Amino acid sequence: MTRLLIIGPPGSGKGTQAVRITDRLGIVAISTGDIFRANVKGGTPLGLEAKKYMDAGDYVPDSVTNRMVRDRLQQDDVANGFLLDGYPRTSAQVDELDDILKEAGVELDVVLQLTADSDELVARLLKRAEIEGRADDTEDVIRHRLDVYEKQTQVVVDRYLERGIVRHVDGLGDIDEVTARVLTVLDVDPA
Ligand code: AMP
Repeated sequence: MTRLLIIGPPGSGKGTQAVRITDRLGIVAISTGDIFRANVKGGTPLGLEAKKYMDAGDYVPDSVTNRMVRDRLQQDDVANGFLLDGYPRTSAQVDELDDILKEAGVELDVVLQLTADSDELVARLLKRAEIEGRADDTEDVIRHRLDVYEKQTQVVVDRYLERGIVRHVDGLGDIDEVTARVLTVLDVDPA
């Protein structure tokens, strides 16, 4: 299994697990959020376009995001596989990804959904906010962000549930334990 998508709420340890999975499988990580941030930092035309939306906390339009992902997935290093993080986020993006992969003659193998109890996520995010000095991240704000995340994600998850390729992994507990769970559902030898 080399073509994966990872989905998980804020605080689920998704970023950490994404690095471990890509290292273990020898595939590239493609995070649309990271690509946008790098372009904003570099002041590229794409970054200038994306920044207005990102600053407002909105999604970058599908036309811009889809083009960027299409370009990225056509690069040579994707030949061994990829882990997409942060994309697709809308139903139109699911359709676009289907098209891109179909044209390349490949399919998505697995959608990995990290799950976690919401009280535990709130506790983790509150702790993180304290460490990072983000006083405006109150419990209410965090709970709202998690609710929004859940609603938006469900649209995408439902599309893949229909295809029977979603695997759930409990994201709670020790980081190594979670990695072991992930590798187990991916049928990868954890050694
Ligand atoms: P993230 O780090 O994944 O939360 O992404 C940071 C920001 O980049 C988001 O708030 C959006 O503005 C933008 N972004 C990332 N991925 C997407 C996507 N798939 N569709 C639209 N906007 C995105």
